[in-house]
Amino acid sequence: MRVFKFGGASVKNAEGVRNITEIIRKYSGEPLLVVISAMGETTNALEKLCQAFFRRDPEAGALLEEIKAAHNAIAAELIKDKKNPVFDALNNLFVELEWILEEEPHADFNFVYDQIVSLGELLSTRIVAAFLGQEDIRSRWIDARNYIHTDNTYREGRLKWELTEHRIREELLPLLGDQVLITQGFIGSTSENYTTTLGRDGSDYSAAIFAYCLNADSLTIWKDVQGVLNADPKWFNNTIKINKLTYNDAIELSYYGANVIHPKTIKPLQNKNIPLYVRSFLEPDKPGTVVMHAYEDQLPIPCFIFKMNQRLISVHARDFSFIHEDGFSEIFRYFAESGTRINVMQNTAISFSVSVDDNEKVPALVEKLREKYKVLYNTGMELITIRYYNQETIDRVLENKQLYLEQKSRYTVQLVVKEVEK
Ligand code: ASP
Ligand code: MG
Repeated sequence: MRVFKFGGASVKNAEGVRNITEIIRKYSGEPLLVVISAMGETTNALEKLCQAFFRRDPEAGALLEEIKAAHNAIAAELIKDKKNPVFDALNNLFVELEWILEEEPHADFNFVYDQIVSLGELLSTRIVAAFLGQEDIRSRWIDARNYIHTDNTYREGRLKWELTEHRIREELLPLLGDQVLITQGFIGSTSENYTTTLGRDGSDYSAAIFAYCLNADSLTIWKDVQGVLNADPKWFNNTIKINKLTYNDAIELSYYGANVIHPKTIKPLQNKNIPLYVRSFLEPDKPGTVVMHAYEDQLPIPCFIFKMNQRLISVHARDFSFIHEDGFSEIFRYFAESGTRINVMQNTAISFSVSVDDNEKVPALVEKLREKYKVLYNTGMELITIRYYNQETIDRVLENKQLYLEQKSRYTVQLVVKEVEK
């Protein structure tokens, strides 16, 4: 069986729903589960609504009306029979939301967030399932919350793997066959039946969970790009599509900051050796990228990851001593306490240098370090990571850049650089 995942961009309007319906039709002869995100920017809109509600800002009402109008317009454009039960289903979801908004906000923001923001996926899947029915594709709408069980860490629900796997195998697997199952990404539920979410962009992870528990033959994530590229086109000309990638490559690339696929998504697939296809919903006949266990033939293409707005911090002992293990453990503790992730680090006899994302937490961290150490830093730096590098690729990215720090391992080089001022 196959699992498909369609993200928000693929269903941002009626045209998008028609398009994915044709993709689904092509594969509907075989057992298929389809995981769908909220339409377009709905999750952002619901987030704004939730914040307004918490501030007791009357803007919340207007935001709700916008979300309602957008979904009703898409449903009205797609569904010909105005008595189709989907209109009641959408209406009921909005009524439930209105009830929440009429009460005083519950004290726990994250709890309220999940009850409100989960609506996006419920709405989108209702509309898609109804449209598939109208277009003669046998399908069934599935509430993911009956299968994806989490603890009560709202906004970052942690999966209860055993219970989830049990439910999916016992109750979902038997439903697969001559009907396409349509379900939501991103959402789950607690043992008390409250809705949780898995963290922003969590739909890929949901799809991987379903694929794992159903022992799927493959997972396909349909995106608006033709596959995984070797660099972000925002920073790089002449990007190349990567045809094959190993699971470890995919995890490493996302660790270094590539906007590929969340490592949380890769692990479950890797554990069962389920291939992941990344394909374009705009060019569905093209093969895309496959992420799988190992290469058979070709050499990997160099991949480039650019992280902007870095602060390069170097920590020196105040006296003539070296920084050794005790010092390191203290320095790392300061970074951990500040919640600042180290992107690359290097030590010499007398100093310890790190590059971090420069954000509002960093100045306080620098102050903390300065209580004991001499601390210097440069701001406005870039961190360039090249996996499967060679000298030519290094020369290419160093054009017009001044190099501050370089670190090489067998497959990966990391360069902290600054644009040369002209
Ligand atoms: N709709 C959710 C989000 O925008 C989940 C997802 O799209 O993966 O974060
Ligand atoms: Mg999204």
